[in-house]
Amino acid sequence: MGAIGAATVHLVETPIVLPFAILTERTGIGILHQIPLPRWVNILLACVVMDYTLYMWHVLVHKHPWLWRFHVVHHADLDLDASTAVRFHFGELIISIPWRLAQIAVIGTSPQVLIIWQTATLVSILFHHSNAYLPAAVERGLSRLLVTPRMHGIHHSVAHDEVNSNWSSGLAVWDRLHGTFRLDVPQEAITIGVPEYPVPGDVTLQRMLALPFVARNLNTGDRAERRPPETAPPDAR
Ligand SMILES: [Zn+2]
Repeated sequence: MGAIGAATVHLVETPIVLPFAILTERTGIGILHQIPLPRWVNILLACVVMDYTLYMWHVLVHKHPWLWRFHVVHHADLDLDASTAVRFHFGELIISIPWRLAQIAVIGTSPQVLIIWQTATLVSILFHHSNAYLPAAVERGLSRLLVTPRMHGIHHSVAHDEVNSNWSSGLAVWDRLHGTFRLDVPQEAITIGVPEYPVPGDVTLQRMLALPFVARNLNTGDRAERRPPETAPPDAR
């Protein structure tokens, strides 16, 4: 899944997105190209706004049923670790291209910022999907600024009130501002995955690649009407 994703990024996304950033810089399209700022302020500001608009995209792929069909592949992983960070359906990577182009065009993201932000985001998602154990005090302190493994682990829970939290990908501040931040679920209490695909046989490479096109009765990411298995009434078990 990671290899297909990497090939999609290199063969489809980068050849579209990077030249677009070069073009918008040349033509001065985008807010930050219009405001004269010190270089480092421009880079910092652009990275922060790119991170916030990625938060918005992440909420969207959970809320919109059609987008969730692709993003669910990432959440279906039953064993959360750094490899989950690259486990995205290639379709989701392609669908995100128009959003990325809009980010670049509106914000005025230079090619240099784009590369810095993409690299920082990749490091961040490898880190917060990892199974690295950090003491609770370190998690608490770090999550004041950045997304931590325990924080993002809650987002990968099967429970709908837990998956609908911690949408940030870089800075944790977006969840804090939107009231979607939580750190109150112990890691060992979390069941990782999505309720529809509870066993390893459900999440093979072949099934995951086909899933967005064949899935039936797939609830959206908020799954408001669906109870998590552990709280389902006895007659539903
Ligand atoms: Zn998600």
